[in-house]
Amino acid sequence: MAGIEAERGAILEETAQQVRACTRCRLHEGRVHAVPGEGPLDADVFLIGEAPGRDEDASGRPFVGAAGKILDKALSAARMPRDSVFVTNVVKCRPPGNRGPRTDELESCRPYLATQIAVVRPKVLVTLGSTALKGLLGKGSELKDVRGRAAVFEGIPVIPTYHPAAILYNRRLEASLRADLRKAARMARSKRLRIRSGPLRETKPTRPATSSGAVIVGPEGRILLLKRADEEIWCLPKGTVEPGETLEETAIREVQEETGLRVKLLRPLHEVRYSFYWPPAGVNYDKTVTYFLAEPIGGRLAPEPGFDEARWVTRPEALRLLHWKNDMDVIARAFEAIRS
Ligand code: SF4
Repeated sequence: MAGIEAERGAILEETAQQVRACTRCRLHEGRVHAVPGEGPLDADVFLIGEAPGRDEDASGRPFVGAAGKILDKALSAARMPRDSVFVTNVVKCRPPGNRGPRTDELESCRPYLATQIAVVRPKVLVTLGSTALKGLLGKGSELKDVRGRAAVFEGIPVIPTYHPAAILYNRRLEASLRADLRKAARMARSKRLRIRSGPLRETKPTRPATSSGAVIVGPEGRILLLKRADEEIWCLPKGTVEPGETLEETAIREVQEETGLRVKLLRPLHEVRYSFYWPPAGVNYDKTVTYFLAEPIGGRLAPEPGFDEARWVTRPEALRLLHWKNDMDVIARAFEAIRS
């Protein structure tokens, strides 16, 4: 096994060396540094941008300029440290005057990207911007048509999203970028890693975390539970509050992202607080979650990747399925509210 790992690492490094010496297309003429990309050999998430910019060309590293700062913040919001993901571009040398890469340049450079993907074998690919999407999937792949749909490259799911540089001109796209990266994180976790949160570890730092979620009341007074794929436990839809969001906005957004349903919040229900150690982040979380009672007003029930199943359940079924005592307290209040 170690031999195979060493061989994969050697192929990745050899590819980087070939990129640094490459003269396959005209872009080598104006570059200061080629930018092969970087990240761990066993990265679950593989990000693909368009091409190096001025800062990247100067440093030889991907996403180190203003767009890189936006990307780092979005990754952090998705609980994916930058050093846990592989980051590269479809074209490895800077086009002059920051123009977009031309078709022949994309074609010349594509074999390097294909080798990197084959060696890293990530669980999910994320394309940042239209050029990255076309560079990966070929001509005719438009971001507006493909975003939010299932796309696949060599058997690996692809999440097309916006380039962080686009957010410099349109801040409203930032929420979409973050939502897509959260989805990538969930998909990467969904592959039966069986991660378990654990008791607090004194030697690890503690971070506060604020989430918001909902108990959704559906047909015949049943409520909706989700089964998490990573921990294999039943829970209520909820998620982290983004900067600038209210608790209500987070609950509505998270429900839609996780279940596919649009909901109306009926009333606040309960606030729970608990602490745990989360191995993927290497930190303890001191978490507060606010729950609302909600009813569906549209959408279609379709749990997002990261959840194995969504099920409308009665109170006895909910008490039997739910894993955490906190969740049982929340649904007890929900059923009292439904009765009254
Ligand atoms: S952009 Fe790609 S193909 Fe063109 S010179 Fe750079 S590494 Fe080679």
